[in-house]
Amino acid sequence: MTDTVLFARLKHETNTFSSLSTGREAFASTSLFRGAEIVPEFRGTNTDLGGFLRVADAEGWDVVPTVAANATPGGVVTADAFSAFLDRILDGIEEHDPDAVLLGLHGAMVTERHRDGDGRILDAVRSAVGDDVPVMATLDLHANVSDRMVANADGLFGYDTYPHVDIGDTGETAARAMAATLQGNLEPTVVIERAPVLPPLPPLQTAAEPMASLLATAADAESEPVPDVSVLGGFAYADVPEAGVSVVGVADESVASEAAAACADLAGAADARRHEFDRTYTGVDDAVAEAAAWDRDAPLVLADIADNPGGGSAQDGTVLLEALLDAGVEDAAVAAIHDPAAVDAATAAGVGETVTVDLGGHTEENGDPIAVEGTVRLLSDGTYRNQGPMSTGLEVSFGRTAVLAVDGIDVIVASHRQQPYDPEAFRSHGITPERKRVLVLKSTVHYRAAFEPIAGGVREVSAPGLCSPDLSAFTYDHVGRPTYPLDSE
Ligand SMILES: [Zn+2]
Repeated sequence: MTDTVLFARLKHETNTFSSLSTGREAFASTSLFRGAEIVPEFRGTNTDLGGFLRVADAEGWDVVPTVAANATPGGVVTADAFSAFLDRILDGIEEHDPDAVLLGLHGAMVTERHRDGDGRILDAVRSAVGDDVPVMATLDLHANVSDRMVANADGLFGYDTYPHVDIGDTGETAARAMAATLQGNLEPTVVIERAPVLPPLPPLQTAAEPMASLLATAADAESEPVPDVSVLGGFAYADVPEAGVSVVGVADESVASEAAAACADLAGAADARRHEFDRTYTGVDDAVAEAAAWDRDAPLVLADIADNPGGGSAQDGTVLLEALLDAGVEDAAVAAIHDPAAVDAATAAGVGETVTVDLGGHTEENGDPIAVEGTVRLLSDGTYRNQGPMSTGLEVSFGRTAVLAVDGIDVIVASHRQQPYDPEAFRSHGITPERKRVLVLKSTVHYRAAFEPIAGGVREVSAPGLCSPDLSAFTYDHVGRPTYPLDSE
């Protein structure tokens, strides 16, 4: 008998320190597909749905695609957007009475009504399908996993990489576990253990310690009856009780206590190694001095780590750009400054014309606007398809863009916030990143997957922004205490 498996993707990483709320239009301008649009869009991509589809095709499932909605990280999701997307999933369940539900979630969604958006999704799905239909979800490595999520899922599968280059593989792992469950070969349950550690983003890089060896130990704990053990770093910019490190396992009921013990050991190891999540960063002045003197053949990458739209920052910070301009650094390119009004001005002027704009700095935490005079080199719809290792094949967009040449620096100005983690961000704008001396990226870690291989050097630059690794800059009201580093010991 053919199994009917309902698919949905409903993802948001919510930065509760952001004042920009996330409504339907934010999903529509990032990635929003409904019903029959979904399978052709995601088949073959390195995404959660791409992974689900690999298994669905092999198993011959009757797939019910409902909604695929993801918005660039930002402030809380509006009640309107959340209920519209959740209702599509629930309507699909009512109409198709599925044998199983596979969800691509993030795990750090906060809505106007639900501090635990993902727990609300899983609870609603569980209520709709009952206890006998398996429900499984993939989670981002930055998930803040709640008890409500665990209670309502038969499987939670986290990415094991940051940069997230294994999203498709994680989807496939979840779907394989679902296939085993439908065949009666797995009776799955979720186990979790938390560690009182709240790391900022950069030290969660999985090629570096302590994550590298924690994840290696997690992989060693996996087996046929324990299809997944994930070390999730959490998302420190969502002020919720569950924020921080958790270790989540999916195990057959028969070995649940062994899996729980392995998760507890790993959570203990993460706690014991909490000081290894401390890092030092490069100040703006040092970064600019190095950029001015840079004479290697491959570019110096300056990661503007705190102003990463992929963590909910406004992407309009000007501190680093202004310092580079003041120092006369040339042959550089910036991806990207969010400033829709500047895009409008450049569009009105036209390619080849000169415009004067007050660029960026329109949100209070990100420096002031800087008055620049630039030549409009190119106007674009800002859309490109990733070619690098992360979310390969997925179409993403800066919205309408203008490339402004300002004193030897090519600045991509965007009308939609989008993290530039793929070199296509530059190439699609007529810029060959390998040939620039200096690249500025509004990205914290994801850029490493595709830019480290072409960079002569990489610096993590600490300028202002809502992803600042200095957590003492934020006021926490809800996060579980004590936790490191907010409470030093
Ligand atoms: Zn993430």
